Amino acid sequence: MKQVVILGATGSVGQSTLSVLDLHTDDYQVLGLSAYSRMDELAHLVKRYEPKFVAVTDETAKAALLTALQKSSVQSDQSHPDRPNQPTVLLGEQGLCDLAALVQATHVVAAIVGAAGLPSCMAAAKAGKTILLANKEALVMAGAFFLQAVEQGGATLLPLDSEHNALFQCLPAGQGRVDNSVRSVWLTASGGPFLNRDPATLHAVTPDEACKHPKWAMGRKISVDSATLMNKGLEVIEAALMYSLPAEQVKVAIHPQSTIHALVQYSDGSLLAHLSHPDMCVPIAHALAYPERMVSGVADLDVVALGALTFSSPDTDRFPCLALAYRALKQGQQGCIALNAANEVAVAAFLDGKLAFTQIAVVVESVLDDMQHCIAPTSLEQVYGLNQQARTLASRKLQISTNPL
Ligand code: NAD
Ligand code: MG
Repeated sequence: MKQVVILGATGSVGQSTLSVLDLHTDDYQVLGLSAYSRMDELAHLVKRYEPKFVAVTDETAKAALLTALQKSSVQSDQSHPDRPNQPTVLLGEQGLCDLAALVQATHVVAAIVGAAGLPSCMAAAKAGKTILLANKEALVMAGAFFLQAVEQGGATLLPLDSEHNALFQCLPAGQGRVDNSVRSVWLTASGGPFLNRDPATLHAVTPDEACKHPKWAMGRKISVDSATLMNKGLEVIEAALMYSLPAEQVKVAIHPQSTIHALVQYSDGSLLAHLSHPDMCVPIAHALAYPERMVSGVADLDVVALGALTFSSPDTDRFPCLALAYRALKQGQQGCIALNAANEVAVAAFLDGKLAFTQIAVVVESVLDDMQHCIAPTSLEQVYGLNQQARTLASRKLQISTNPL
């Protein structure tokens, strides 16, 4: 029985993971779940999957969870007198790290959004787990420090991000390693909800419009990143770090059908592509079963029904965040940290109605400018320090964002 911990269980990737696990209850057990908010939803998952451990933010969240659990067991007691055992509740960042490093855990799904997911990713790496990585921000931020921890801890890193999982499958021997037969890789991007929108109207788009992705159902932060193309920028960095590729060898193509997720160009002229319906259950099932295959619940692709698949170059004038990500990657790890942190602060402000959509890129660029002379971090502590510095700078810029940045 494989024992699965899901960090960020109430989110979009967390839910997709649980729906794949529902198809394989003989082989996989849910050992632990975490959530940051929505304790009612977590209680519902606890009732359904009976994990031995859960992790929540603090005592208040714990009390809310226990109340919700009690309420639901009183309701269900009328029909089912057998109460499920209460899980052990772990608290805060340390609780998340302990959950990620549980001795019994075989697979850790890293599906927390943003920099907040880094400590638990590091804990899973050090504890030698099989890490199914959705939380791209953790890798973008910590880069070599995270990859080193994976290696030293004897962990296995499997990408869940659909493009990186597609690359993993198309790379030599399907083992996610680049050799000198690989010339370059392509990541595809749907183009998001504003692909064909008049650029003059972009400043006025609302959070709800930005979160209405044409192809993928995702959390709000990654949905905004998809609308600005920052998501593709973070993915370029993720691919460069994960597969040790220089920026020039990681290319992006707009592909509105979201059927091909990534391609690998080989030196003999072969271009290998990975195709599937745009559904996270495909990469999740691949990574959970690796090196085997198992059913994901997603329908087969009917090639004839697909019709035309189209590709074009991204418009970096309309979507400057993609160019900023390439710039950050060339700047080095400190640039990647600055880009990611500034973007997190700016996107949160946009979702809060405090920043215009087009100002996200302006804030990020301004923080990158301010931090361009920072030296590369030599320890994880310095990674956290640079992250904090960039967040503080970005927050200051928000306060004066009525003036030109
Ligand atoms: P989401 O917002 O739907 O879910 C995030 C989860 O993390 C929730 O369970 C939430 O409770 C938890 N969380 C939020 N803030 C937290 C904090 N400060 N501390 C601890 N837990 C916290 O997000 P999502 O769409 O599932 O994305 C999760 C990650 O996966 C992101 O890094 C995203 O870029 C990546 N990803 C998502 C998709 C997708 O299809 N949704 C695809 C590829 C990659
Ligand atoms: Mg992706």
